[in-house]
Amino acid sequence: MSTLKITPLVGLEIHVQLATRSKLFCNCTVEFGAKPNSRVCPVCLGMPGVLPVINKRALDLSIAVGLALNCRITRHSKWDRKSYYYPDLPKNYQISQYDLPLAHDGYFEIPSNGSMRRIRIRRAHIEEDAGKNIHDTPGCTLVDLNRAGTPLLEIVTEPDISSANEAHTFCTELQRLVTYLGVSEGSMQKGHMRFEPNINVIVEHSGVEYRTPIVEVKNLNSFRAVRSAIDYEISRQVAGWEADNDYVLGNRPNENRGWNDTRQVTEFQRPKEAAHDYRYFPDPDLVPVEIDDHWLQRIRSEVTEFPLARRGRFVAQYGLTDADADTIVSDRATADLFEAVLDTGAPVSIVSKQFVNIWLKIANARHTTMAQLGVDARRMGELASLVQVGTVSPTAANQIAERMPDTADTPEALANSMGLVQVQDIKAMEKWLDEVFAANERTVQDALTKPKKASGSIGFLRGQVMRVSGGKADPGLAGELIEERLKKMSE
Ligand SMILES: [Zn+2]
Repeated sequence: MSTLKITPLVGLEIHVQLATRSKLFCNCTVEFGAKPNSRVCPVCLGMPGVLPVINKRALDLSIAVGLALNCRITRHSKWDRKSYYYPDLPKNYQISQYDLPLAHDGYFEIPSNGSMRRIRIRRAHIEEDAGKNIHDTPGCTLVDLNRAGTPLLEIVTEPDISSANEAHTFCTELQRLVTYLGVSEGSMQKGHMRFEPNINVIVEHSGVEYRTPIVEVKNLNSFRAVRSAIDYEISRQVAGWEADNDYVLGNRPNENRGWNDTRQVTEFQRPKEAAHDYRYFPDPDLVPVEIDDHWLQRIRSEVTEFPLARRGRFVAQYGLTDADADTIVSDRATADLFEAVLDTGAPVSIVSKQFVNIWLKIANARHTTMAQLGVDARRMGELASLVQVGTVSPTAANQIAERMPDTADTPEALANSMGLVQVQDIKAMEKWLDEVFAANERTVQDALTKPKKASGSIGFLRGQVMRVSGGKADPGLAGELIEERLKKMSE
């Protein structure tokens, strides 16, 4: 069977919870972890005679995603009822968009094997979430309807994804996009993103192509599960075709399967439903959605530059590495802050180093983002400039930065009060050199006698001078003085 050529075809359906304060069709707040059934009203409980009213914010956020995914926005769309019966859906239908999704025919470019790959977006539509069945009490199932009516955007791709890794990248890039746009918190812990990959493979054997039936893996809630489930399905389907050459699309049913994370396998759930099983029909209680030029223009002006484009610009315009640009553009507010710091006239080389090496660490330690540290662009710019003119060393800048979120003092005032202003006084420097040369005779000998080791040895000695000076020595001056002294010793 070594002549088999395998081409996986993977499409993704992704539910993204929109970051609105209230639900899609009522005023109940959307709140994770609230007391069960405390965020409900007659509308989201599905009482007879109530009238749903659309949350306009959910439309704004969805249009923003549609534009970011290069979609066409449907100017006239509507709401449809998708009928099914389940305890977590008391009104027996879910309000969704069937034949007129809000956005359609777009694409999303993702990095793959060193270049960009374009994954086509078939559609993105808005729908309400159902409640939650809770099975942790023996002998009964409890129903929590706090989640019922929460706005979701369902994004559906074409089957353009060709590996589990590519699907993983798509999902993480999409998470980055929606959090960047402020459209969703994108928290996996809170279930803000749920993934359903559709998977089948083309098996090419002796010049003939066979397509296996399509499997939809339901309700994955982590990036890792997306990757593992797709990898597993590709192998399972190829093995299935090898064992039974009639295991092909049309001859065997498409299936819904679930992911068993403990056993790391997919398990059969049921044959895949066709759309008519849901008896979709237009919701008579809701007016259609009309999106005019003015509305579209307003959203377009709010979402000017998307993260991938901005990352590219940071590399080209500021000379950042891909990795540094990635870190700084990870959220929009941090990227905005970075550019505001540069606007103060601070040098980009030092500012970018301080963002990646100093501010990021401080933000991580405080479980927040760089933009949320409470240090404004002006003070960040000052700290970078202090390093540039040599008032403080890069190491001392680190210590000063640690204090900055908790005080309104300028970096210069902190440098003074913390005794970190660099000493350029030759006498003081010579004293530190005496101490370091005496304590490190072997390194000094290496520097004098082993040319290959010289620069490493000098670097070590300079580090020691910085240490004994408590970070106050000017590292440039220290290096010069060390080289001078070694030269004298060798004469
Ligand atoms: Zn409600």
